[in-house]
Amino acid sequence: MASVRVDRVASYEYALVKDTVSEILDTSGLSWRGKKVLVKPNMLAPFTPEKAVTTHPVLVRAVRDALRERGSEVVVGDNPGLAGYGSMVKVSSVTGLGEAGGDDFLNLAKRPKKVPMKSRFTEQLSVCSEVFEVDYYVSLPKFKTHMLTILTGGIKNSFGLVVGGQKARMHARANTPAEFAELLVDIYSIRPPDLVIMDAITGMEGFGPSAGSPRDIGCILSSTDGAALDLAMCMMTGLKPSRYPTVKVATHRGLVPSSIDEIEIAGELPRLQGFKLPPTLFRVLVPWRGARLVLGFISKPRFRVKKDLCDACATCAKGCPAGVITVDRFPVFDRRKCIGCYCCYELCPQNALEVAGFIRFFKWLESSKKAV
Ligand code: SF4
Ligand code: SF4
Repeated sequence: MASVRVDRVASYEYALVKDTVSEILDTSGLSWRGKKVLVKPNMLAPFTPEKAVTTHPVLVRAVRDALRERGSEVVVGDNPGLAGYGSMVKVSSVTGLGEAGGDDFLNLAKRPKKVPMKSRFTEQLSVCSEVFEVDYYVSLPKFKTHMLTILTGGIKNSFGLVVGGQKARMHARANTPAEFAELLVDIYSIRPPDLVIMDAITGMEGFGPSAGSPRDIGCILSSTDGAALDLAMCMMTGLKPSRYPTVKVATHRGLVPSSIDEIEIAGELPRLQGFKLPPTLFRVLVPWRGARLVLGFISKPRFRVKKDLCDACATCAKGCPAGVITVDRFPVFDRRKCIGCYCCYELCPQNALEVAGFIRFFKWLESSKKAV
């Protein structure tokens, strides 16, 4: 039976986090001495830790230190963003994750390895080599909402193993929530993590994964099963597992049970009253595929550029899988060709894009617990 551990951790005070992490490592059933370990945080884009977009550097440092104390050789790294997007130096510096990883920090984009895929979206994918060279892969996702995938957790964090511009190509091929969820489970299954430690001390609700609001949750979730952990996360938000596309696919494939009752929970799983899910939730709530496609089409995102924040860096254009953004003084969107993936919105380091238009009518769903 899969199990998920819940530790209450009130703040990012290093000693508190380190004690918890040490206990998680010691009770994980894994033997760390002499092992090579990849630690992969969520390092989406250059946002400071208090924005709750990326895994908090204190958790990363605590995991790294605790592993080293247990005799592991550690590599800390991620492969943020999309093709040509920003620089690793900037992301690692602003997020504090470069410092947290110290001498063990590595850019995972540098040594891609082509691997065969069992996926209807691609037959092979370039993935960072390191994940195949270590004894253990420890994934450190952030507890967050996501405009395309509704939530982002243990399964989604493995998308960061995919190197460079392929992320954009994969987004373009799997551009509905259901398709993208399927692709995420395909990628997760290439090399599932051995241990997942989720940063849920402060998570994100609403317009995630980068423009939502920080939400104090006060815990660290952990499991040797990333899919089981996602199911637990889903229950905390009040979302039915069948409404969370990645968990739905994982359940269909037998990776995780459909009910939380079939998972052992060590500790008390908190229920987050009034947790705000993203307004795009309607895309998975409508039960008929045809209606979902029509709704998806008429509700293609419109973005308003906050001109006081936009510095014309063109990160949105470089990260757009459909190549429909041009930037002169400000970005301009060819909405007819937009596939509604929200990558631009997700990656803008200035939070200079605001969702406008039809989607705003669905904002009421954020707090509607009846609907889920
Ligand atoms: S909206 Fe402006 S600041 Fe944001 S990524 Fe695009 S060009 Fe850069
Ligand atoms: S404009 Fe934004 S939402 Fe549309 S395809 Fe490009 S990145 Fe995705």
